[in-house]
Amino acid sequence: MTKDWTPKDSAKLYNLKGWGLNYFQINDSGRLAFHPRRNSKRSIDIKHVADDIVARGVKLPALIRFQDILRDRVATLNRAFRRAIKQYDYKGRYLGVYPIKVNQLREVVEEVLDAGKPFQLGLEAGSKPELMAVLAMNSNEALAVVNGYKDASMMRLACVGIKIGRKIIVVIEKLSELKMLLDAADAEGVRPMIGLRAKLETEGSGKWATSAGHRAKFGLTTSEIIAAVRTLEKRNMLDCAKLLHFHIGSQVTDIRVLKEAVKEAARVYAKLYGMGAKLEYLDCGGGLGVDYEGSNSSSDHSMNYTLEEYTRDVVYAVQEVCQEEKVPEPNLVTESGRALTAHHAILVVDAFGSIETASAPIPVDETPTEHKIVDNIREALKGLNEENLAESFHDAQQALEEASTMFRLGFLGLEDKAKVETLYWTLCVDVAKLVNRVENVPEDVEAMVKTLHDQYLVNFSVFQSLPDIWAIDQVFPIMPLHRLKEEPTRRASIADITCDSDGKVSNFISPEEGDVLPLHPLNGDPYYLGIFLMGAYQATMGDIHNLFGRVNEVHVFEDDEEPGGYYVEEIIRGQRVWDVLESIQYNKFELVKMVKSAIDGRIKAGALKKREGVDLLNYYEEMMKEYTYLDRTDNLEPRTVVPAVSSPTSAKI
Ligand SMILES: *Cc1c(COP(=O)(O)O)cnc(C)c1O
Repeated sequence: MTKDWTPKDSAKLYNLKGWGLNYFQINDSGRLAFHPRRNSKRSIDIKHVADDIVARGVKLPALIRFQDILRDRVATLNRAFRRAIKQYDYKGRYLGVYPIKVNQLREVVEEVLDAGKPFQLGLEAGSKPELMAVLAMNSNEALAVVNGYKDASMMRLACVGIKIGRKIIVVIEKLSELKMLLDAADAEGVRPMIGLRAKLETEGSGKWATSAGHRAKFGLTTSEIIAAVRTLEKRNMLDCAKLLHFHIGSQVTDIRVLKEAVKEAARVYAKLYGMGAKLEYLDCGGGLGVDYEGSNSSSDHSMNYTLEEYTRDVVYAVQEVCQEEKVPEPNLVTESGRALTAHHAILVVDAFGSIETASAPIPVDETPTEHKIVDNIREALKGLNEENLAESFHDAQQALEEASTMFRLGFLGLEDKAKVETLYWTLCVDVAKLVNRVENVPEDVEAMVKTLHDQYLVNFSVFQSLPDIWAIDQVFPIMPLHRLKEEPTRRASIADITCDSDGKVSNFISPEEGDVLPLHPLNGDPYYLGIFLMGAYQATMGDIHNLFGRVNEVHVFEDDEEPGGYYVEEIIRGQRVWDVLESIQYNKFELVKMVKSAIDGRIKAGALKKREGVDLLNYYEEMMKEYTYLDRTDNLEPRTVVPAVSSPTSAKI
């Protein structure tokens, strides 16, 4: 019980091994370190990086991209496929493409491409703007796969790509797209490379299961695939059919589902081959998972397989079918995005206060004029022990309700009401302390104890930085970056700074604690939390709810020669006040003009001196350049104390 808390205990508590893929460890100073090589030799202290960028004027919240992780993920996936191909003596090659919708940031795409060069890694686009980027960025050696719904101009764009030498494969999602593509190819005088997306019967597992199966939004049915082949035959273009594509949805949690899908698709490939469509590629889409909670299970936020197992299973399943069907083994393509990008990005946020349910900001001592109901609850508190725990709680609850009624009717003063509430919450906290020693705790007492955790106020917006938490109840690993030699004695949920009660995190990866996160008591010093595995899908899906804009970003590379073992390659400034205002049609100059005219009015009326007016206008203009988040560089607030009597539910406030 009294043994000293060690970094090991913290690592276990936050399940670092489960989700960190050996990229993260806690160092001897109790701080979280990043290990670019996934071994203990080289490490970068993440709190140090955070302090460093703050000292350079990059305010929090800030996103740190460890570009080395991105590179390592790319190499790991490609090497694993190469090993599996060698192990099974598979005849085709592996040629991955990175679907840029997962993270389109130019620096991310560039890094992925650069790390993927030795493996001829290509790109995948699913929209016009994505294709515009892919067309320019991809090399002539690597594949460029175009998915998603397309119009005639997008088909033409793809043909332009072919003309400039890019290896573009247009995947047909809908039969009508085939005619559009063939027309565009005719007009441009090119022979297109065509992919066919099969609507498989195997449905995915996990949250994105509906990406496949009969009711899926994408892909061709068996009869549509046959119709496409006939059309191509008629036009003497069957040799243009190059690739069979399927995608059973992102974050496939159960490997068995994936194996079934691969087998089904391989069968389709083989039969098409038999019909004369000599396809060269089988594209297994995305879906390679990320173990967000580190449970190595088939739950929604986990996966019951490893990356290596995935690659072996794909290779083996395709080979097995091809051997049975006596057709050549196709080159394998996958479109993994999440598994490549999730790990490299960490959002660093600071907790600037906490709301504790119970606190005594005013004295609750007996006063001569107080109402006797105050003393009722005081007595309940005094007499509380293990035996009468439920009874005392119920008495207190009743007193609280009575006090509330009396207050509404005008029979209880404000100060007495405050005393009753304070005493009530003090009693609740004391009950919570005793609960563990008592058997058979009544349900209502247990329910009350569960609501007693703190809320830590954290300077960020869930809607901007972690949209999936709000939209699909995604969980991300969250833990302090420092003080990890100290036992985290508080239990808290996290509240962001938007004026929206949905702006919170109340679901965490730990199966025991679930809706609370173990954290350290705030002590007046900055307290930094890292939110991990957020490199996939979060960046461009975020929005500017409450006009909190894009956050600052720094790109960090490891470098032995530099102090701390790293250098900051790039700082991308987040949006400022005027950026977000302009994005919703305000004009900076007009706003300033309007404020100026208000100031002029006050000067005319004699309420302001001219000099003051100038200062006020300057201040207003200066604010335009500020970061949209709270400026935490000047002071740390002490704990905010709010004795919450009833917590508002989900109303937007
Ligand atoms: C979204 C998507 C992907 C990426 O899936 P991940 O699970 O992130 O790897 C791949 N292919 C297609 C067609 C997609 O729509």
